[in-house]
Order: sequence, then C-alpha cells, then structure tokens
Amino acid sequence: DYSHAVVIVGAGAGGVAVASSLKARCPDLDIAIVEPNEVHYYQPGWTLVGGGVFNANETVRTVASVIPQNVKWIKAGVAAFSPKENMIVVDGCRTVKYEHLVVCPGIKLDWSKIEGLSETLGENGVTSNYRFDLAPYTWELVKNLKKGKAIFSQPPMPIKCAGAPQKAMYLSCDHWLKEGVLGNIDVQFYNTGAVLFGVKEYVPALMEYVQKYNAHLNFEHQLVKVDGKSKVASFKNLAEPDAPLVETEFDMLHAVPPQSPPDFIKVSPLVDANGWIDVDQSTLQHKMYENIFALGDATNSPNAKTAAAARMQAPVVANNLLYERGVQTGKAIYNGYGSCPLTVERGKVVLAEFGYGGKILNSMPSWVLDGTKPSRLAWYLKEKLLPPIYWEGMLKGREWLAKPKTHTPQ
Ligand code: FAD
Repeated sequence: DYSHAVVIVGAGAGGVAVASSLKARCPDLDIAIVEPNEVHYYQPGWTLVGGGVFNANETVRTVASVIPQNVKWIKAGVAAFSPKENMIVVDGCRTVKYEHLVVCPGIKLDWSKIEGLSETLGENGVTSNYRFDLAPYTWELVKNLKKGKAIFSQPPMPIKCAGAPQKAMYLSCDHWLKEGVLGNIDVQFYNTGAVLFGVKEYVPALMEYVQKYNAHLNFEHQLVKVDGKSKVASFKNLAEPDAPLVETEFDMLHAVPPQSPPDFIKVSPLVDANGWIDVDQSTLQHKMYENIFALGDATNSPNAKTAAAARMQAPVVANNLLYERGVQTGKAIYNGYGSCPLTVERGKVVLAEFGYGGKILNSMPSWVLDGTKPSRLAWYLKEKLLPPIYWEGMLKGREWLAKPKTHTPQ
C-alpha cells in the first residue's frame, strides 16, 4: 500500500500535464500517478492519421517516457474512491492514501452501444478515428474508395472533440475531390444532434465545405446498428421516434461511438447526477471535497472536451491545489477555453476557440488568424506546431500558452 502527498488518477493529457505543472512550481512535492496502461496517446493526431497526413507512430509514446522525473508511477487501475478516508483503492485491493487528489481518467467510448459495431470495426469498410489502431484503416479506405456511398456518423453529445466526426468527412472528401472521384461518391453525414457545430460563428465556413463537397446532412439521426457483412447501417430518426429505423447501405462507414464517464467514476461518490465529476467550473476544485481536483474529459465543467482545454486546466489545477497546501498565494480561474481545429481540407483549418457559453476566445488577433475563416496558418498550427506544443510544452509543464492569471481571495 502507498501514501503520497498528491495522487493523480490517469496519465493522459490532463494527468501528465498537471504532474509537470506541479513539479514546475514545487520540485520537491511527493507525487504519484496511477495509470494502468503502458502507452500514452496524442489523440488529436488521429484525425490526421485518418487523413493520411501523420503516421500512427507519431501519436504514441510510452507512459514511462512522459511521466516527469521524480514522479512515482503506480502501474494499476483505480477501482474505487474513499474521499472521506483520503484514499483510493487500486487493482488487487491495494490502497493509496493522499493529502490531495487529482482525478483525470478521460472519457469512456461506448462502442457496444451500437449493435454489431465492435464485431466489424477494422473490416467491411467500417472504421473510426477514435481508436489508434483504426485511424490508419480510415486512410486505407479513403484511398481505395472510387465510387459508392460513404457515411460519417456523430453520436449524442457530450463527446471528446465534437468536431472530429466531421473532420474525418472533410479530409476524406478533399482527397476524393483531388483524385477526381468525389462525383461518384455519395457522402452522407448523420448527426444525432440538430446542428453542424455547437458554436454558430463557425457554421457558415463549415457549410461552404459541406456544399463544396456536396455532402448531405442528416440531423437528429442516431447510428444504432451496423451489419458489417451486408454493409448496412441503421439509424434512429429522433424527430420521429415511432418511425422504423432508417436502413442504408454503405461502402465506407466512419463511426463515432457514444461516450460517457468511465464506469468506476460513474459509481463513485465524486459525481453529479449524470455521472461526471462534480467540480467548480472556475477553480476545478471538487464541490464537496476540498482536497480533490479534476480536469479533462471526465468532469462536468461545460467546456469543449479537448486536449486544448486540458492544457489550460492543468496549470489552474496545479496552482489551486498548491494554494490549498499553502504554497501558492493566489487562486487561478479557468474560463472554459477549449479549441477544435476543424480540418476542412488538407492545408486549411477552421480554428474554433471558445470558452464557457460559446464565448469566442481567439488566441491570436483576428488580422493574424480569423478563426471563423478557413486558414493556412491554422493548418500549419495543427500539423506542425500543436504536436510539439503538446509533447514539449503541455506535458513538460512549460506553460507558454497557458499561464493562468491568479488573484488573492479576500
Ligand atoms: P485522456 O488523455 O484520454 O487520458 C485518460 C487517462 O486515464 C488514460 O491514460 C487512461 O488509461 C487513464 N485511465 C482510465 N481509466 C483509469 C483507471 N481506472 N485508473 C487510472 N487511470 C485510468 N483535442 C484537442 O484539443 N484538439 C483536437 O483536435 C482533438 N482531436 C481529437 C480527435 C480524436 C479522434 C480524439 C479521440 C480526441 C481528440 N481530442 C482533441 C480530444 C483529446 O484527446 C482529449 O480531450 C484529451 O485527451 C483529454 O484528456 P484527459 O486527460 O481527460 O483524458
């Protein structure tokens, strides 16, 4: 059994960034990260793997190589929380005691909620950029498709990177257009939601691409079943719940699974009625337990679930946790910043950057980069700058783009 001053659950984007941010502020702090997996993924790269721009290998590193020096790695999964005892239980019924806890286990992909999907993923033309091993198959399918029907589906919100289902469509269409085969391909986007993108300022630019690619939009249609052998996808029409399922044949299907809080989180004492970790959206401190913080995809703060959000959240959590420990004198506030670089064609991105309530939060002046317009600079950012910003900046606790302002509470 273990005992540490700070324990972090999950060595993903949020967990590693927060460990590094804490170490940058307080090098002697005794920190342990609990993470069962051997590998850490740069998931934002998977859209570009599916678009034939990145090699999948560029999106993965060992956990051992990303955990900062002098942070202990407890290689196990967390099973349960006992916040009143300041303790978590990990696999094998071992316990880990803490003074402060940071919870960032990410989001669960519910592949099994779509009947028949798991069985056929990776074959019969069925793929998803939401899995490391499948993103290369997306590109295989795109390269080989010369005619027929291509379907892209989007599950109910919330999901991580809400733009990713349509990014896959745009990059595929761009390839088909350049190959001269787009005219022979019927492109269909089936979205469970009722709008193309949740922040309206970005929709006009996206609609131009929908028209350019002649993609057909079907709203309030939820993918519920896939028959891989006969290549038929079935959708529920949410606007007409009593209508029979809409069945349609496909040659390629890019499916995105419904998503939910991880099971061990859902059943824990840390969550709200919907199963997300219940935090104050400004300080990221748990609403009930003062010595617990959370960040990333598993919280109920109403920001876009993105690595960009975690990049801004990590220093806020580090600062506020150290404030609780009496090390830091001011409190930091998170404004809900999240970002979604919409890859509308190879070489151009519509860079959505916004905070709570859909408030636009551009990181550059609009004469340099207008996020509501497709931009080459934003593509350059996505392809060339964001990966090193992630690996060498965010995960190393170098807060070039995320230094939080602090204030001293009265
Ligand atoms: P993760 O990075 O997923 O890490 C969670 C960690 O917790 C994992 O290491 C996991 O193994 C661990 N864990 C799980 N269960 C347990 C347990 N029981 N005990 C201990 N540890 C556990 N974001 C952007 O900013 N821009 C983009 O363009 C973008 N595109 C995306 C495209 C795709 C296809 C996908 C899938 C995601 C994309 N994202 C993007 C979203 C981004 O990857 C996530 O928002 C981000 O990784 C969230 O960080 P996190 O730390 O909450 O979770």
